[in-house]
Amino acid sequence: PITPVIFPELVRALIAVIDANAAEVTELDQAIGDGDHVFNLQRGLQALQQHAEEIAALDWPAAWQKIGMTVMSAVGGASGSLYATLFIGLAKHGRDQAADVRGFSEALLQAVEAVKQRGKADVGEKTMLDVLVPAAQALHAEAAANSALPTILARLRQVAADGAEATRDMVATKGRASFLGERSKGHVDAGAKTAQLMIAAIADVLD
Ligand code: ADP
Ligand code: MG
Ligand code: MG
Repeated sequence: PITPVIFPELVRALIAVIDANAAEVTELDQAIGDGDHVFNLQRGLQALQQHAEEIAALDWPAAWQKIGMTVMSAVGGASGSLYATLFIGLAKHGRDQAADVRGFSEALLQAVEAVKQRGKADVGEKTMLDVLVPAAQALHAEAAANSALPTILARLRQVAADGAEATRDMVATKGRASFLGERSKGHVDAGAKTAQLMIAAIADVLD
């Protein structure tokens, strides 16, 4: 089984992928947001790296709780409270689930629901949800079908990439980009892009 022992390696991979794409993502957040999205994520990831060994020694529910609280206190910005909500949701809903891919996928669906409620948003509004929702649904479907791990990861990479790209032609109705209305069209959402990049990086670690 996958345990929090993998957490330090995951954080290193997330830091690397955000650093490697920092210029591109910052351009996206400058086009339709306030340009701080990469900085916000980097702050959160640095804080997680500081606590990575401690988190690695916990069980998953305690690890998710610690991850969520760490992100919450380190990151200002919409993305900080939304990711904190996701992780705390995983802590809450993971407790009753078996520690396998199927159990994780069920907890993830519920945690993504909590993110929707927290941001009063849903798919189609040009946010990270356009990646997180289809990714959670795909993971759940593949786990229910007992797909092999490489198959699951390939599907996750694909739906995440499709979800991020789909935000390009959307009009933003939540977050700062919504202030631009129709003019938000033509740019991929920064938060959707980083959600996709982080899912791909996690898939590479697990593959
Ligand atoms: P801020 O917008 O406060 O500067 P960030 O730049 O870190 O925060 O994050 C912006 C990203 O957060 C957006 O690109 C979008 O993906 C996501 N986002 C903003 N508002 C919401 C919301 N209500 N629900 C879901 N995601 C949102
Ligand atoms: Mg921003
Ligand atoms: Mg900001």
